[in-house]
Amino acid sequence: MVSLNNKAVIPTKFELDSEFSFRCHPGCACFTRCCCNIEILLTPYDVVRMKQRLGLSSTEFLKKYTRFEEDAKTTHPLLYMRMDAENDLYCPFVTPGQGEGKGCNIYSDRPAACRYYPVGQATHRIMDDKNEQPLHDEWYVIVKEDHCLGFNEGKKWTVADWRQDQDAALYDDMNREWKNIMMKQDLPKVDKNREKRQQMFYMASYDLDLFRRYVTESRFLEIFEVPPSTLDTIREDDIELMRFGFSYLKYLLVISQELKLKPHVAEAQTARIAEMRAQEDAAREARIAEAKRAKGKQ
Ligand code: SF4
Ligand code: SF4
Repeated sequence: MVSLNNKAVIPTKFELDSEFSFRCHPGCACFTRCCCNIEILLTPYDVVRMKQRLGLSSTEFLKKYTRFEEDAKTTHPLLYMRMDAENDLYCPFVTPGQGEGKGCNIYSDRPAACRYYPVGQATHRIMDDKNEQPLHDEWYVIVKEDHCLGFNEGKKWTVADWRQDQDAALYDDMNREWKNIMMKQDLPKVDKNREKRQQMFYMASYDLDLFRRYVTESRFLEIFEVPPSTLDTIREDDIELMRFGFSYLKYLLVISQELKLKPHVAEAQTARIAEMRAQEDAAREARIAEAKRAKGKQ
C-alpha cells in the first residue's frame, strides 16, 4: 500500500458504501506526480503480476525493482518498490508528465496499492470466536495529498464502485490469506532460527521462481507430503505455487499443518522434541537440587 502520511489521510473510517469525489486522467495538471517518492508495499500477487508482465524471473525482478525491510513488530520481511534514485525518485515504471503517452507503463498489472489510491486500505486483526483463527476486518481511508487535484474534478464514487473500477477485488482475494499470515505477531522473541526462517519467508512470499526450485530440487520432497498432482501444478503455475507457498509459511510460523511432514520425518521430529524436553527437565531438576544443597550449607 502507499505509505500513509497522517496529514494527508482524512481520518474517517470509510466503508464500501462511503462516498467520495475524485477523477484522475492524463489531462490533470498533477498527472504522475503521485508516482514519485512514495512507499509502495508489495504483496506476493503484485510480484507475480509484475514479473510476468516484464518477462523476468522473480529473482531478477526483486533485485532490479524492490527493496526489503524487516517489520519492526513481527520481523516479517516487507517488500517495497524501489524508487529510481537517478530519476528524481520516480517509480521505475512511470513516464512522468501530462497527456498522451505519459503515465504508468504497466498499468494493467500495477500493484494493489496503486489501484486503490487515493483510497487507502486499513486492516485490523480480529479473532474468529469458533476456532481462534485470525481473520481480518478491512476498512478504508481517503488519502488526500496537496498535490493531488483529482478531488476537484467532481465525479462521485462509492468505495465499492472504485474498487470494482480499479479491478482491486481480485488482488484482495489473492492477498487475503497472505495478509492473515503477515499479521501473526506472537513469534518467539528469541529464535535461533530467525535468520533462516526469515530467508525462507522471503523466498516463499516473493521469490517464487527460487521457491519452485527449492521445492523440486532440494530435500523438500523427502520431508513434506506433496501429492503428485500438486507438484505437477506448481511446476507450471505461479498462482498455485504462491498458494502452496502460503501453506509452507503457515508451517514455518506454526499457524497450521496444511502442509504435512512425511510420517518418518514427523516421528523423528516428535522423538527429538521429547528428547529436548527430557534434557530440559533434567537440567531444571539439577538446578533445583543444587540450590537446595547450597541452602543446606548455609
Ligand atoms: S489526480 Fe491524484 S492520483 Fe491522479 S495523477 Fe494527479 S496526483 Fe495522481
Ligand atoms: S506502478 Fe504504475 S501506478 Fe504504481 S507508482 Fe509505478 S507508475 Fe505509478
